[in-house]
Amino acid sequence: MNKEFILGCHVSLSSPDYYLGSVNEALSYGANTFMIYTGAPQNSYRLPTERLNINKGKEALKKSGMNSNHIIAHAPYIINLGNSLNPSTAELAVDFLKKELQRVADFGIKTLVLHPGSHVGAGEEEGLKQIIKGLNEVLANDNNDDVIIALETMAGKGSEIGYKFEHIRHIIDNVDRPERLGVCLDTCHISDAGYDVTKVDEVLKEFDEVIGLERLRVVHVNDSKNERGARKDRHENLGYGTIGFETISKYVHHPLLAHVPKILETPYYDKKPPYKAEIAMLRAKQFNKNWRDSL
Ligand code: FE
Ligand code: FE
Ligand code: ZN
Repeated sequence: MNKEFILGCHVSLSSPDYYLGSVNEALSYGANTFMIYTGAPQNSYRLPTERLNINKGKEALKKSGMNSNHIIAHAPYIINLGNSLNPSTAELAVDFLKKELQRVADFGIKTLVLHPGSHVGAGEEEGLKQIIKGLNEVLANDNNDDVIIALETMAGKGSEIGYKFEHIRHIIDNVDRPERLGVCLDTCHISDAGYDVTKVDEVLKEFDEVIGLERLRVVHVNDSKNERGARKDRHENLGYGTIGFETISKYVHHPLLAHVPKILETPYYDKKPPYKAEIAMLRAKQFNKNWRDSL
């Protein structure tokens, strides 16, 4: 695969093969990178990393020719750094993230995607403050300097923070260790947040002006089930949503993003993973309307 085309998808990390299984799953889709959750995305229960077959996974990774710098981890979406109304929730998130940075380092992974958090009714200003405080606590004594926390651009569902590039800028500008922060741009989320994702160059220009493209660590390439500005966050398969295959393909092939891993988080279709077909279509820059039949 072309070196200037770093494309993969979310894969599982599950018994019995764990990390070796993740690598093999990615290879089976024709991916040259992938994203894992270090455990179930919807809870914070985690097996010790010694039990996750990491060394075998790393060996397979080396043999595959994939660049380990491009592998991505994602923090569970239930943790909320932004809750100022219930301090124990934010405290749990801080504790979890401290340990998560070490787990991610154990995998040799260098990017941890994190949803900034939700203010749960306290207002955006309070939420932002709480997130900054939490990130400061997480990073204060952390020595895994190789691991960057990539704040994800959000759809703005509920009281989510991060649906404006300015929120992310504000967080980066106000933490003690901005060198440990990066960004994850999610095409479904920013469309749901109200950005016109079809104007690819304008979106990237605005991203560059507000945040800085040098902060971009990963792009989540998803179509959306909802209209622009719906603030819903429901991912759709490429070409079946309101964004469309052509636009998604432009992000994947954009020269300004050549060095940035792209990760599919599109839903299973008919209980089957869509990734092999979606990756093949993106490589060919050609939508195949029959791909769902060929699964
Ligand atoms: Fe996410
Ligand atoms: Fe995402
Ligand atoms: Zn999402």
